[in-house]
Amino acid sequence: MKIFKTRCEFQRYALELKRSGKSIALVPTMGFLHDGHMSLIDIARKKADVVMVSIFVNPTQFAPNEDFDRYPRDFDGDVAKCIDHGADVIFAPEPGEMYDPDASCWVEEVNLSKPLCGRSRPTFYRGVTTVVAKLFLLAQPDYAVFGLKDAQQCFVIQKMVRDLDFPIEIIPAPLVRDSDGLALSSRNRYLSADERSRALSIHRALLAAKAAISADRNAMAAALEKAKAEITAAGGRVDYVDILDCATMEYPLAGSRQVIVAAAAFFGSTRLIDNEIFEI
Ligand code: AMP
Repeated sequence: MKIFKTRCEFQRYALELKRSGKSIALVPTMGFLHDGHMSLIDIARKKADVVMVSIFVNPTQFAPNEDFDRYPRDFDGDVAKCIDHGADVIFAPEPGEMYDPDASCWVEEVNLSKPLCGRSRPTFYRGVTTVVAKLFLLAQPDYAVFGLKDAQQCFVIQKMVRDLDFPIEIIPAPLVRDSDGLALSSRNRYLSADERSRALSIHRALLAAKAAISADRNAMAAALEKAKAEITAAGGRVDYVDILDCATMEYPLAGSRQVIVAAAAFFGSTRLIDNEIFEI
């Protein structure tokens, strides 16, 4: 396992690998790794000669009132898990290393990133696309694996790669859940036992909405209201429950095929997101 802390050394190493003809798969993460992340590393392992995992809690995607300072970190645990799953390289820069103090360039996607999380976190996707573009230029990957837990993020990155001609294949990976249905997330660590059991309402509500809409596409609005009510009744504070066409990230039209029903809700002070993607 090679661990790099500086952009310069990491990029030099990646360029050497490319020159020697190796293929590279990158898994970008914010660390505190769980089985969802591990599933991405397993997919990357099957795709390329060299698997790189980046571990970086990216300050530019957090708003000042969000949880950047208390975001859970466990670098030694993360390294052990990466070794266990056959990753070859970890890139884990300190916050001050990733951006020059006078950095003034952003990468921004302005359509797919607007609804859902983009509405309640207006500077979030700009931070994500900027850091991911930087990671792509540093790691020189042929493949990058993104989880559908953050489906909108995955679609935004695919659009960035297409629009800006990054020579990279984005591989979407299935959402991994705990046995009781809760979507795995590093932020689940914040939940009390009571909040955690109440938070199961998110997935229950999404599944009920999916069933209702699959049975009758005219039931969309009613199904979303019902889902919001179920999460609220469980003690959650709903940020959004919405249905969108996966290709456009707009409200589904008659011709829409693949849709996403997505939810974000607070349990206590913890904001959780989840989604179901399906054909209508
Ligand atoms: P994060 O560390 O939360 O920024 O996530 C890093 C990557 O892991 C992103 O591509 C996420 O979509 C993915 N990921 C996080 N949780 C899960 C999960 N439960 N299932 C699948 N992928 C996940």
